[in-house]
Amino acid sequence: MQGACSFCGNTEFKSKSVEYVYRRGEKMLVVNGVPCTQCTYCGERYYEAEVLSKIESDFEAIENGTREVEKHLSVPVEDFSRLVG
Ligand SMILES: [Zn+2]
Repeated sequence: MQGACSFCGNTEFKSKSVEYVYRRGEKMLVVNGVPCTQCTYCGERYYEAEVLSKIESDFEAIENGTREVEKHLSVPVEDFSRLVG
């Protein structure tokens, strides 16, 4: 990561491995261990274009049925207006 964070202007970053959630409409793909560079001040994450296109291709492959995913998660979805408490 070169230069400053586009959100807060901080110039210090660290390399991290994170969980990335790719979403297209109602479909999602969660990828663990994705390399990124994170702003040490605000936490904004920056990904290499190559990393993002790899995730997108993987999503396509799963959609086309040419690739099996490691596991599936069942995710409950709520609207804030319906929340209790
Ligand atoms: Zn920042």
